[in-house]
Amino acid sequence: MRLILLGPPGCGKGTQSKRLTDKYGIVPLSTGDMLRAAVKAGTPVGLKVRDLMDLGELVPDEVVVAIVADRIDQPDAKNGFILDGFPRTVPQAEALDRMLERKGVKLDAVIELKVDEGILHERIAKRVADAKARGETLRADDNPETLEKRVHAYRMQTAPVVSYYAKHGLLRTVDGMAPIDAVSAEIDRVLGRVEAPAP
Ligand code: AMP
Repeated sequence: MRLILLGPPGCGKGTQSKRLTDKYGIVPLSTGDMLRAAVKAGTPVGLKVRDLMDLGELVPDEVVVAIVADRIDQPDAKNGFILDGFPRTVPQAEALDRMLERKGVKLDAVIELKVDEGILHERIAKRVADAKARGETLRADDNPETLEKRVHAYRMQTAPVVSYYAKHGLLRTVDGMAPIDAVSAEIDRVLGRVEAPAP
């Protein structure tokens, strides 16, 4: 199964991506995680993107497209993957189409987690508090000022990606405001794995 999870920062993509990968035995491909790893390791890519990430801005399309192209060629992604945080622009979506066409594979679905923007601040605040409680290092971009910019970037650059996949007939929209288990159940349902409960 090859899936994309779309939604603004704090919408629950990471949580649902983890559940889907566990359930279907597919690999999670989070461009945010890959870029954070590159920053931490101080690679040339990491040095290039660090400041943009800290500011909550998108990194250049060609950088992230190259990372994804390498990653989906790895043997563990052969049976399926779930892309979390990519594509974030229409040119990235077009580049992904070309990549998949070259490989002779198709996307099964694009799941959009729809949430009210008001709740994103609460959720990011909770993510920060949970990370602190676990004694983990905080993400440099998980703070109120940067969150505004990330939500703005989503609205301006990523919302058109939702329309792009709607046009291609791949979009499945799920209410991301529901409790975590209910969101998972709805994702299963739209993926056609589970019958909807009788009315
Ligand atoms: P995320 O963990 O998905 O919220 O991503 C964290 C940051 O990484 C974003 O704010 C961007 O700076 C960068 N990033 C992640 N994925 C992409 C992408 N597909 N295109 C551009 N920038 C990205």
